[in-house]
Amino acid sequence: MIIKPKFRDYICLTAHPEGCAINVREQVEYIKKQKNITGPKNVLILGASTGYGLASRIAMAFGAKANTIGVVFERPAAKTRTASAGWYNTAEFERLAKQEGLYSKTINGDAFSNDVKEKAIELIKNDLGKIDLIIYSIASPRRTDPITGQTYQSTLKPIGEAYTNKAVNFHTDIIQEVTISPASEDEVESTRKVMGGEDWELWIKALSEAGVLSEGASTVAYTYVGSELTYPIYRNGTIGEAKKHLEKTSEGLNKYLSSIAGKAYISSNKALVTQSSSAIPVVPLYIALLFKIMKEKNIDESCIEQIYRLMDSKLYSGDKLNESEMIRLDDLELREDVQKEVIIQWDKISSENIREQTDIEGFRNEFFKLFGFGHQGLDYDLDIDPNVEIPDLIQI
Ligand code: NAD
Repeated sequence: MIIKPKFRDYICLTAHPEGCAINVREQVEYIKKQKNITGPKNVLILGASTGYGLASRIAMAFGAKANTIGVVFERPAAKTRTASAGWYNTAEFERLAKQEGLYSKTINGDAFSNDVKEKAIELIKNDLGKIDLIIYSIASPRRTDPITGQTYQSTLKPIGEAYTNKAVNFHTDIIQEVTISPASEDEVESTRKVMGGEDWELWIKALSEAGVLSEGASTVAYTYVGSELTYPIYRNGTIGEAKKHLEKTSEGLNKYLSSIAGKAYISSNKALVTQSSSAIPVVPLYIALLFKIMKEKNIDESCIEQIYRLMDSKLYSGDKLNESEMIRLDDLELREDVQKEVIIQWDKISSENIREQTDIEGFRNEFFKLFGFGHQGLDYDLDIDPNVEIPDLIQI
């Protein structure tokens, strides 16, 4: 199959196996060049195939030499379709981990379900005994509650009143004003059910009740606060409400884990181009502007750089962390001079000057890269087999 990018809105329907493999290898190479992380031995990563979860798995496996179990929800190739990018990423991760002699297994299934939780527990019991760190990095548009069977959809809407701002179509560079009507109460609640802390809590309690958490085990979930510019659609919108619920969940988990001296942390990470963030209205243009400003100041970080900093300088630095305070990996994004510049520049951006005023090209490149496209030196006209196996995959 000759694999080229095929888009529908903010979704890419194809992924390139070799391009995705290169992305994984680049992250592994980055980690191998850093000083080793003295960290956990056994790590469970929920949402381990793309974005922050994949970077976390790579940092733990290749930086801390940890045994990793990854839970992902990815699609294999079918007759006329490529697999999803996360599938190819996972295949390459598993290949490299095994080549390095590291234990790693992946469960492909719905992390929100009881079946996947039970399977993960069985695997931990059989292969690892106990887990030292659980990373919660799931981003999903829907969730079926495992108790009631009801399915909830998340929405990306403001709360209270309509929100109007400019947004870019990053395939055409055309900027248009968008107005997003406010969410109903049902939509706020549904988004909380999907992206709030309920499932994180279910995981931690299931693992604890099964006796597979080691003494002093930690868990970390990722959140986003972001710029005042995006508050109406993010922090003060439906997704922000869900994130506040996730953040609040850490308080309960800290109490719950105290009997084993366990800790639950929230890390607020920087805005990055991932499949999830590209779909949020206004955010792609904000990221394109942020890229330009942070790159000019030489303080921009990629996913893997953020996560290495989280592990090396925060979670496993040896310094005592206060679990009731958010870990701020977004400190550079939210630096006063950066945000001041964002606000000044934002009003000046138009379809005519977007290429000079922002790093929309950088945004686009990163977006294409998520799916394995745009690598110099990779011949995208070559016929390539889309069927790639994930070694030892456990399919639920
Ligand atoms: P992503 O879309 O790149 O990754 C999501 C992961 O979740 C994938 O591995 C996917 O397979 C997995 N997943 C989705 N549904 C699943 C399901 N039902 N069962 C099992 N796995 C499932 O997302 P991301 O941007 O890396 O986001 C991860 C976390 O980081 C989220 O909590 C997000 O809010 C947070 N975050 C993201 C940004 C950003 O700018 N991208 C910034 C700060 C915080």
